[in-house]
Amino acid sequence: VGKAPEVTEGSDDTGEKEAFAEQGDKVKATFVSLARNRDLYELVESIRQVEDKFNKKYHYDWVFLNDDEFDTEFKKVTTAMVSGTTYYGTIPKEQWGFPEWIDTDKAAKVREEMRAKKIIYGDSISYRHMCRYESGFFFRHPLMQQYEYYWRVEPGIKIFCNIDYDVFKLFKDKNYAYGFTISLPEYRETIPTLWETTKKFMAEYPQYVDKNNMQDFISDDGGSSYNGCHFWSNFEIGDLKFWRSDAYMKYFEYLDKAGGFFYERWGDAPVHSIAASLLLPKERIHFFDDVGYYHVPFFNCPVDEKVRLENQCSCNPNDDFTFKGYSCVNRYYKVNNLKKPDGWEKYAN
Ligand code: GDP
Ligand code: MN
Repeated sequence: VGKAPEVTEGSDDTGEKEAFAEQGDKVKATFVSLARNRDLYELVESIRQVEDKFNKKYHYDWVFLNDDEFDTEFKKVTTAMVSGTTYYGTIPKEQWGFPEWIDTDKAAKVREEMRAKKIIYGDSISYRHMCRYESGFFFRHPLMQQYEYYWRVEPGIKIFCNIDYDVFKLFKDKNYAYGFTISLPEYRETIPTLWETTKKFMAEYPQYVDKNNMQDFISDDGGSSYNGCHFWSNFEIGDLKFWRSDAYMKYFEYLDKAGGFFYERWGDAPVHSIAASLLLPKERIHFFDDVGYYHVPFFNCPVDEKVRLENQCSCNPNDDFTFKGYSCVNRYYKVNNLKKPDGWEKYAN
């Protein structure tokens, strides 16, 4: 682990490049949180979890992104919480608004229909901008350019276990591109044409589909239909190079032009997950079975007692979602021929 800056201080978009020069062979990595000023105290809980369980030993930076200006209180409090350097960025207006090819009347009608059907966030404009931003833009923000890896953190999450190794170094050493803790099927009503659009993309750009991909994780019928399985993107550790690659950029552009972020309610989770499953070789996708995680309403609590005791996980394995019938992690284990931990059956219902 390289030397971390002693003094934490907030800075604006211009950044502090010098801090990096001293860090030697430390991985160029950061935490990243998209948040509003009013998310501050829920986010502070998350930061505290991540710092206590991991970052107090490693002092990685933290980038905060917002479609609005962060206020002084937000910056002051988060800077005090993070043991690495904090950076605060605003999102360019054109990345948080309707692109010119979107028919806003049509989009408004869809929101009305989804409101009537009580589809979660179906009537929200800002949620759609958020999903589109997380799908296509966060990794291009100027503040993110100095990094190779990221860990996404949302407000109100929990990490249950000590993480006594450098997760970013693990990613670099093993050449992992995408890491997750929880996986489940997406609400169908939010993505009616996402798979059809994806199939068209694959037909037009077969060169971007990896030969050793994990399509079987997201499709039960050889690619004819999407089974809805997605990695829950409120936790993500990943290689930014993947999102910045021609393959993913083309895929995002294709989806964006199709309009489903606004005419439906495509989430960044299914978009990231489908992309990772098709455009990456499957061994570059990593399941974290040892960190313990919570985002309302699901828990990842390692069912392997050895893991739980070694890492002092403060969670109840009976709450674990990993091996429940509805969890897609079962499928992940199957398609990768992985052995489930002993006694997993006890926690399957
Ligand atoms: P959920 O987890 O799907 O229920 O969605 P969240 O409300 O947690 O939003 C996902 C992430 O985007 C969180 O990090 C939020 O803080 C952030 N977020 C959601 N909406 C907005 C928004 O309108 N502006 C900003 N700046 N961040 C947002
Ligand atoms: Mn959330």
